Amino acid sequence: MSPAAQRPVSWVVLANHRVRAATFAAIFLVIASHLYERPQGGLVWALLTLHLWVYPHLLYAFANRSDKPLKVEYLALLLEPALMGAWAAWLGFPLWIAFPVFLGSLISISLYQGPRGTAGAALSFGAGALTVIALHGFTFAPDTRLLTSALAMSSLGIYLLLVAEAARQRGLKLRHAREALREKEQALQRQLQANQSLQQQLLEQANRDALTGLFNRRYLDATILRELARSQRESQPLSLLIMDIDHFKQVNDRHGHQAGDEVLRQVAQALAAGARQSDVVCRYGGEEYLVLLPNVTCHTAQVRAEAYRADVQTLPIPFGPEILHVTISIGVATFPQHGQTAQALIQQADAALYQAKQLGRNRVAAQNQAGGLR
Ligand code: GH3
Ligand code: MG
Ligand code: MG
Repeated sequence: MSPAAQRPVSWVVLANHRVRAATFAAIFLVIASHLYERPQGGLVWALLTLHLWVYPHLLYAFANRSDKPLKVEYLALLLEPALMGAWAAWLGFPLWIAFPVFLGSLISISLYQGPRGTAGAALSFGAGALTVIALHGFTFAPDTRLLTSALAMSSLGIYLLLVAEAARQRGLKLRHAREALREKEQALQRQLQANQSLQQQLLEQANRDALTGLFNRRYLDATILRELARSQRESQPLSLLIMDIDHFKQVNDRHGHQAGDEVLRQVAQALAAGARQSDVVCRYGGEEYLVLLPNVTCHTAQVRAEAYRADVQTLPIPFGPEILHVTISIGVATFPQHGQTAQALIQQADAALYQAKQLGRNRVAAQNQAGGLR
């Protein structure tokens, strides 16, 4: 099988073939009825048979094998009127034969090629007629007997109904294609939304600590630089609190790692609950948290730290039959007085945290501007 033969048949070629085969057969009957009273030689019948019975099927086979079936079809629609014109002229323009074949020729092409095609078909019809007139002379015999006229009317009727049906089928096909396209579009839209929410989820996960759900170190590293740059630009303070659970190792040792995890989660929840809109609460390390306080002075940061400390101290942490309690120590540092870079600020907050531990834990410490402890 050649590649062309494997291709699905063009819808236009198939629809036209059906209309053409039926209509040409009907025209054959009309002309045969007309010629019944005007006996003809075998050549005329042979040509008529070839044109009206054989040609439509040859054309169909040829179009389907062609690389450009639509082009073949449109060319046929343009050239066929010439043959019809030739028959009309040769028969002497019997009105009930010439008129329907002329009209049919124009309609067939106008469906696909519009007014330009219609004009081309009219010219083609005229050229065919003129050729026969030139070769054979002009005759004018407009009358047809009743049977021939009735057959012609029926043929024209059948042709118009077939064309209308083909147009209806074409409309249906277009509607189905449009619906299928819309469904595909909607499915694509849904897929896109799912992808976007998945992407959002992944981004969220990448910035979150898996155990506590707080922001992670990765997020903090980017955020602290951004916030510091903003504070510098706007000449605003930026405070940070580093918090560390006191004697956390004992929780693990006495109650097990699971209990330790539960404490980490509950403390994280308490910190998140006590946070303001602009606070950025992160899990900084094993049992350490860091809270960024944009636009907050050192004094206010200490007040906020004290509130966080008190929240954790009074937090009951149920674990199995027991209720656990922990405390936290907090070191405070503030831009600009304690450092100009993120690294310097974290170092200062760490030093303050160390001092808070040294002073007995469960407390807040910040270094004063002179470098001593407050
Ligand atoms: P300090 O008051 O001086 O901070 O004493 P500490 O016991 O809290 O500090 P230390 O650094 O000695 O112990 C911290 C412990 O935290 C050790 C480590 O096993 C534990 N830890 C770190 N990450 C996790 C975690 O994700 N889950 C649990 N359960 N334990 C953790
Ligand atoms: Mg620690
Ligand atoms: Mg600790």
